[in-house]
Amino acid sequence: MARYTGASCRLCRREGMKLFLKGDRCYTDKCAFVRRSYAPGQHGASKKKLSNYGVQLREKQKAKRIYGVLEGQFRTYYEKAERMRGITGENLLKLLEMRLDNVMFRLGYGASRTEARQLVTHGHFLVNGKKVDIPSYKVSVNDVLAVCESSKATEKFKTFAENPKPLPKWISANPENFEGKIVAEPAREDIEVPVNETLIVELYSK
Ligand code: SF4
Repeated sequence: MARYTGASCRLCRREGMKLFLKGDRCYTDKCAFVRRSYAPGQHGASKKKLSNYGVQLREKQKAKRIYGVLEGQFRTYYEKAERMRGITGENLLKLLEMRLDNVMFRLGYGASRTEARQLVTHGHFLVNGKKVDIPSYKVSVNDVLAVCESSKATEKFKTFAENPKPLPKWISANPENFEGKIVAEPAREDIEVPVNETLIVELYSK
């Protein structure tokens, strides 16, 4: 399970926006993008006009970085999205949204997708009563997601349960029982990520 292990804040600076990859720190004035809102590197502060290709490339990189997916896996998602019925770009975002690590993040288990991913790999969650420790696991409608019995008693999980996040329409939650349920597939308007998926489709369609 490969993942990006470099400096997260560089990614925000490269994309020219906050991607909220570090949880609580992102909301403080310690945020690197607040301090240095220009691209990293020697020439990062000089403004360059991007070509069409550059704009499309940046959009794809941004989506990959938000969801913590590397190039090969992202391409696989795209190819799958192309084979699905409907609009390819929307299908792509839907597939990314329905990853288990993203769903647990949406349910409030983790201050960032990175933390949620780590909780998944450490085996804290059950899907329909069975332990699943694969961050890319794709959830389905009617899946019930829960926290393992042994994890519920920990301070970390009690804190998560006591601070529920606003949920998108396609997920319901019962924080007292440490449970959530997928009630529908996400529609485009339910996916609040600052990504223009049309540009990604244009890039891969070349
Ligand atoms: Fe991005 Fe968060 Fe780092 Fe700020 S603190 S640059 S939002 S990862």
